[in-house]
Formats: sequence, C-alpha cells, structure tokens
Amino acid sequence: MTQDAIEQAWDAVVGTARRTVTDGLVVGTSGNVSARVGDLVLVTPSGVPYDRLTPADLVAVDLDGTRIRGRLAPTSELPMHLEIYRRTTARAVVHTHAVHATAVSALVTELPLIHYMAAALGGPVRVAPYALYGTEELAAHVLRALDGRTGCLLRNHGTVTYGDDLDQAYDRTAQLEWMCRVWLTASSVPGLAPSLLSAAELDEVAEKFRGYGRPR
Ligand SMILES: [Zn+2]
Repeated sequence: MTQDAIEQAWDAVVGTARRTVTDGLVVGTSGNVSARVGDLVLVTPSGVPYDRLTPADLVAVDLDGTRIRGRLAPTSELPMHLEIYRRTTARAVVHTHAVHATAVSALVTELPLIHYMAAALGGPVRVAPYALYGTEELAAHVLRALDGRTGCLLRNHGTVTYGDDLDQAYDRTAQLEWMCRVWLTASSVPGLAPSLLSAAELDEVAEKFRGYGRPR
C-alpha cells in the first residue's frame, strides 16, 4: 500500500465520521468509522471530536488489532470492526447511535418489513442481543446478526453497517435509520397498525436489485 493510498483513506474515514455528526446520526464522539486498506484498518480514535482530527491523528491497526501507526488509541469498538473485516468482504464499517434506529433496537428483535429498502441490506434487519460496548461478546453477537446482511441494529445501542467503500457503508446506515424512522412513525398512529411486506415480496425486490445492479 502506498503512503498516498493510506492518507487518502484516512481523509475519507475522517470525512465520513464528520458526516455522521452533521447528519445527526451521532452526537459528540459516540459512533465510529473504519476502512480497510490492504491488511491495514484505519479507524477513528477514541474520544477525539471528529472536527479536530487531522492527518497527523491517523490510527492504523492490523487485523489482530496491533497498532501499526499513530499515537492515539483506536475506538473502543475496535473488536467489532475487526471481527467484521475478518469474517466478511467489508472494506468499510460505520457504527452510529442514530436516534430512530436505537429506539427500534429497544422495541423488537427484527425491524418489521415496513419498506422494500430492507433488500438493500440483504433482507430483514436483525437486532443483535445486548452486550457491553467494546467487548468481544458484542462483536460475536453482531457477527451473527449480520449473517447474510450488510447491516444490523445493536439492542439498546445503535447501528452497524458495512460496504465495499465508505460511501456505501454510510448510505446503508442512512437508509437503515430512515427505515426505522418510517416504522416508528407508522406505528405511532393510535388504533392503526402498519401493513408489512411479506418475505416473498422482499425476495422479489432483491431479485430486481440484482437485475439493475443497484437499488433504486
Ligand atoms: Zn456505540
């Protein structure tokens, strides 16, 4: 990996982390973002406001979590990020405490099929069982909830999504938060319960996405 490629990836990690704050998916320094470059994982450091991150704050670890570059400590959710890189095709991971998604994580064990965009995340979005933040136990729960999916909710905690690059991972987080907001909104009308899609209807959407190559 060239120095340029690593520096560009760091810029993208910082840019995406700032976007989670400006778009209201994260408050303060909660949430974290990472990207894989070769065998390196660039990851946001723990406890530094994203608007203060500079090129000199670059943090890189290997897939075992050994720090290869940087002086700041990696995010406390590093075990979750690394487990996703080790076990999936992920090139980027975004974790947030988005409001509507976190609310839904406290209500159900799977996001009801309120909208066909669930197909863009691989199917009905599961809620990983609760475990203390930053633990291998939480990482294991998340991996199970991600089986066949590119995103999941973390009970009483937030969201995690991955993708081929940071834009895709970020977009999946934004879509997930939006779907959770739609379900909460539709569910909050007294006396009415929202209609839901069937598994067959979602399969049909997944088939169409494959045909077009991209969700629309
Ligand atoms: Zn978190």
